[in-house]
Amino acid sequence: MRNLFFLLLIGSPLFVFSQRTILHCGKLIDVVNGKQLTDYSIIVEGNKISDIQAGYIKPGGTDKVIDLKNNTVMPGLIDCHVHLESETNPNKYMETFTFNPADYAFQSVVFAERTLMAGFTTVRDLGGSGVNISLRNAINKRLIKGPRVFTAGKSIATTGGHADPTNGYRRDLMGDPGPAAGVANGPDECRKAVRQRYKEGSDLIKITASGGVLSVARSGENPQFTEEEIKAIVETARDYGYKVAAHCHGAEAMKRAVKAGVNSIEHGTYMDDEVMRLMKERGTYYVPTITAGKSVGDSAKKPGYYPELVTPKALTIGPKIQGTFTKAYKAGVKIAFGTDAGVYAHGRNWLEFVYMNEGGMPVMEAIQSATVAAADLLGVTDQLGSIEKGKLADIIAVAGDPLKDVQQMGKVIFVMKDGTIYKEK
Ligand SMILES: [Zn+2]
Repeated sequence: MRNLFFLLLIGSPLFVFSQRTILHCGKLIDVVNGKQLTDYSIIVEGNKISDIQAGYIKPGGTDKVIDLKNNTVMPGLIDCHVHLESETNPNKYMETFTFNPADYAFQSVVFAERTLMAGFTTVRDLGGSGVNISLRNAINKRLIKGPRVFTAGKSIATTGGHADPTNGYRRDLMGDPGPAAGVANGPDECRKAVRQRYKEGSDLIKITASGGVLSVARSGENPQFTEEEIKAIVETARDYGYKVAAHCHGAEAMKRAVKAGVNSIEHGTYMDDEVMRLMKERGTYYVPTITAGKSVGDSAKKPGYYPELVTPKALTIGPKIQGTFTKAYKAGVKIAFGTDAGVYAHGRNWLEFVYMNEGGMPVMEAIQSATVAAADLLGVTDQLGSIEKGKLADIIAVAGDPLKDVQQMGKVIFVMKDGTIYKEK
């Protein structure tokens, strides 16, 4: 009778099989305590981590076992600064005039998958045309493969500032883009620009507080918002539960941004002692993007790769970022991992670990910056950033031991996001 009842249950659509996936981990990085554990098992049920136990636990009848006994397992990595819509190439500036939104959309599908397969299960997309919002939605619907995306949508700039989409155009094409297009002047327009991002479905706000390298404009570092304008952005952002990321190369722009209450400084090239003091005082994160800095410096050496106005900025600013990183790390500024992928080739985000390590940070701390610290900056510590009971099952493995050889961060052999396996050896 009991058997019959059981059979009836299985046959019914209401019976939900809870298949467990057991990961046998030779090495497991405990990012919360900064320790490497050996011979552990992680149990995944549905999209969550249901348990972690010492030793290799034996599977039950329906359990699936993943053998990672010769590998190093860690939480899914988080890149706090990417641009999934595009990727550097010598014709990039022409694409503004030749690309339709669909062209950006199709290539972003490829870049998103490449990012996920490199072990980055979560990213912050810090600016694009707005296609990045549709990309996030398509990934969430599981139509395409990609990392969890927290997107800024279109970043907010001032007229002629870094991220004014019409910089360098001839005058009849320049027009006068306003808050809807992410260009705002004065506190009122700044508030409107934030509200527009809310309307479009962004997850956070990105501003370009100083000049930048790749915009067709003269200065790569001058302040481009007043402190009053940034304050208006930050205050409005808070009304919508948004955090604010500020692109800054120059020190004056950083001072204004940090004082106005932004959550992170991106790039931070000319960071001085006062900026570091302010950041520590206010708990502002630094997202270095060393990889992008090095990459633009290298590309600028190829004749004609960038427009004339961009080349000298790329040569002077790009290569300085690694030195700034070392200074900020030694000073004790909070660091969250970010690379500016798109400014260099997507999927090579792991190079940042190599550069951070070269810059003086132990590999364990670099991994922590891309997991626990990044999750804290995103405000998702309760769900992501570590392998703990009850958290979402975003788990990756690299071939060897990255604590002994940082290059192993580029050898991702296993990727699980939200309990689903996307890569297995
Ligand atoms: Zn960027």
